Amino acid sequence: MMQTNVRQSNPGGLVMSESNLQPIQLLDPASGTCTYLLFDPQSREAVIIDPVDEQLPRDLDALQTHGLKLVWSVETHAHADHITSAGRLVELTGARTAAPAGCGIGTAVVQLEHGDELRFGAETLRALHTPGHTAGSMSFLWRDHVFTGDTLLIDGCGRTDFQSGSASDLYRSLTRVLFALPDGTTVWPGHDYHGRSHSTIGHEKRHNARVAGRSEAGFVALMEGLSLPRPRRIDEAVPANLTSGLRHDAGGDALDAPRPAQGAAAGSYAGDISPELAWRWVQDGRAVLVDVRTDAEREWVGFVPEATPVAWKQWPGMAPNPDFDAQARAAANGGKPLLMLCRSGVRSIAAAQRATALGLEAYNILEGFEGDPDGQAHRGTLGGWRRRGLPWRQK
Ligand code: FE
Repeated sequence: MMQTNVRQSNPGGLVMSESNLQPIQLLDPASGTCTYLLFDPQSREAVIIDPVDEQLPRDLDALQTHGLKLVWSVETHAHADHITSAGRLVELTGARTAAPAGCGIGTAVVQLEHGDELRFGAETLRALHTPGHTAGSMSFLWRDHVFTGDTLLIDGCGRTDFQSGSASDLYRSLTRVLFALPDGTTVWPGHDYHGRSHSTIGHEKRHNARVAGRSEAGFVALMEGLSLPRPRRIDEAVPANLTSGLRHDAGGDALDAPRPAQGAAAGSYAGDISPELAWRWVQDGRAVLVDVRTDAEREWVGFVPEATPVAWKQWPGMAPNPDFDAQARAAANGGKPLLMLCRSGVRSIAAAQRATALGLEAYNILEGFEGDPDGQAHRGTLGGWRRRGLPWRQK
């Protein structure tokens, strides 16, 4: 069902010789945003550039279809026209986020400086600082392909009239950084509104309507004379993109008291507690937060500060943790209530029931760290510790 939105540069599929590796180009029709998937054919490790939140299922499908393991989610800049899915992709795939250091995307684990390289398998993506559309904007070079975000478009360039933009910076980024690449370098833009997929540095150098043959002063005058409408989604998109697309306005009410365990589980543990109330109890020193996820999940997805790790099961194999009882007793430290947190609130019930059987007072934290799966079995959209904006850290 997603295929209509997929533009692939080699329609015959992805069987390419190593010397002719091509990125997979995916289009979000609503925002005209091009997302790119690049991968190392041996290890199948992949990078995604500028993923769009509404296209998360499409991108997960593409990863699965091509047998890829996502290791990096990278932004060219903090977008004003769409919201990134980077934060959710990381939760779902175990990839890491990277973003230009000058963009203020504080949730990105790696803050890229000019010349930095990201590895995926045997391949390398190199960051080129190309300010102008925004002060932090970057382009990314992979082999003889350059991903230019909103810096260089086909026969155009990004606007420079908001978000720390500068027409003279953009002129220098275009003429001194991007046009310094070999003419044969393939240009993959962050947008195209006319159905074109790619260009080359040589072609843009000679024919780009905004910059070819123009002086810096001429370019600045042209850019300042454009009167473009304000992006429709800027007030929503920019703040969200500064946190990798994880919005802190997720719905759901915080309970002001724990709710007794429901249904068949009634009486088998002390009750269910909302993430917000659980955090308040921890802050007040009234209870102990117990993270029952595996070590690997915390490592991939994120840690909650002040939580005591007591795995219910352990990766690999999800074997029950033989030391659970002893560790749970130690965490209660003489009788404090235990608040059990897992991925989505399933293991935490089992762990709370076991702790209750040991004579401890134990609650299940609703929704877990990542929230319940949505209609497409993807997590991270329906509440959860992280979605609700409660404290967590990547490492
Ligand atoms: Fe942009």
